[in-house]
Amino acid sequence: MPATATYLRELRELCDARGLLLLVDAVQCGHFRSGSYQSFAEIVAGTEAEGFAPDAVSMAKSLGGGVPIGGFWVREPYQDLLCAGKHGTTYGGGPLACAAANAVLDAIEQEGLVANVRAVGGQLKSGLEALQAELPGVVKDVRGLGMMLGMEVHAGVAGLEDAGDPGLPPPSVELCNRLHEKGVLCVGAGTHTVRFLPPFNLSAAEADEALGAMRDVLKAI
Ligand SMILES: *Cc1c(COP(=O)(O)O)cnc(C)c1O
Repeated sequence: MPATATYLRELRELCDARGLLLLVDAVQCGHFRSGSYQSFAEIVAGTEAEGFAPDAVSMAKSLGGGVPIGGFWVREPYQDLLCAGKHGTTYGGGPLACAAANAVLDAIEQEGLVANVRAVGGQLKSGLEALQAELPGVVKDVRGLGMMLGMEVHAGVAGLEDAGDPGLPPPSVELCNRLHEKGVLCVGAGTHTVRFLPPFNLSAAEADEALGAMRDVLKAI
């Protein structure tokens, strides 16, 4: 569920009015997954909320491209709340993990992956929207930014959900299982939405292949 620019602006105003620190959790949506380094920048670009900035940003997971690392950025006047050594962890500040994160960012830059996230992510979203147009009785909504996309199915779709049987997996899981059988890796989000978080180097041909498999699965329903 992407935030809107208005939501972010009003959140900023609320936090300023109440003296609250505004932290954006960018663990999943950061590091160019949205098409911008930070998803809030992607959302506010060219809007009334242009220039929006949180007070802190948390980062992990894709930051290390598979190597465990977490981190956060924080700005004045909060920057000195945690000084060196105050936020201790056994492996915190390890140079190996930090080198991995730098290598990941280098690869994103050198391999032109931001342009690929925008282009192939856009292709995937258009393809999912076409599936929604073709099968409006099954697909309820398509949303997301860059390569973080969600496809929601309607409640009570026959063949996907037996509303009377609480022992069955929710439609999101059932749909994921069927997509997994076709080689499309995805995860459920909530009861009726499937999430697609492909690697940034996904090719246009691979995106088409995945869309074809999704079409087969959805049409069978
Ligand atoms: C995984 C995750 C976290 C936790 O990250 P850790 O590195 O395990 O602390 C926080 N927020 C989101 C959105 C996550 O997906």
